[in-house]
Amino acid sequence: MKKIGIYPGSFDPVTKGHIDMIERAAKLFDVLYVAVLNNNSKSPLFSFNERVKMLEEITRDIPNVKVDSFEGLLVDYADKVGACTIVRGLRAVTDFEYEISMAQTNRTLNGKIDTVFLTTSPEYAYLSSSTVREVAMYGGDFRQFVPESVARCIDSKLKEKMEARNE
Ligand code: ADP
Repeated sequence: MKKIGIYPGSFDPVTKGHIDMIERAAKLFDVLYVAVLNNNSKSPLFSFNERVKMLEEITRDIPNVKVDSFEGLLVDYADKVGACTIVRGLRAVTDFEYEISMAQTNRTLNGKIDTVFLTTSPEYAYLSSSTVREVAMYGGDFRQFVPESVARCIDSKLKEKMEARNE
């Protein structure tokens, strides 16, 4: 039986903290699905396809990582790909409340699926996609928070937004 894990998230955009998690989680499973949530209720900076592409580029050298996407319930997606484990990152106590309720809800919905938490590496513990978006929007040095390929995507997105504003 293959050990299959899922690392779900919005990844808007992917940060060095996410990459650290993916590299560490990939060592725990035969196959790790990095699954982008396709959620219409949020208005993301990057489209769903852009986020998938960014992750594909970043993970192409990790052979047991598959980038995928899902809509609807995570436990249904887990069943579909045959995964028994969801991986989430815990940065600080502020993540805990939300994460524990999600984990317990998912377990109530599907008792075969467990959530495991990896504590974040201290150097990325403060980092979130929303911080990166904000720093980028206000002209700060976001490049230190993301890999170069993502930094280029942010550059183009900012340019796109500027052009739209000037039209
Ligand atoms: P979501 O909207 O589902 O929280 P995110 O893309 O923000 O999606 O995060 C996906 C997962 O990555 C979550 O488990 C989150 O705790 C974790 N994560 C986010 N930032 C970091 C980081 N800097 N270090 C480690 N894990 C992180």
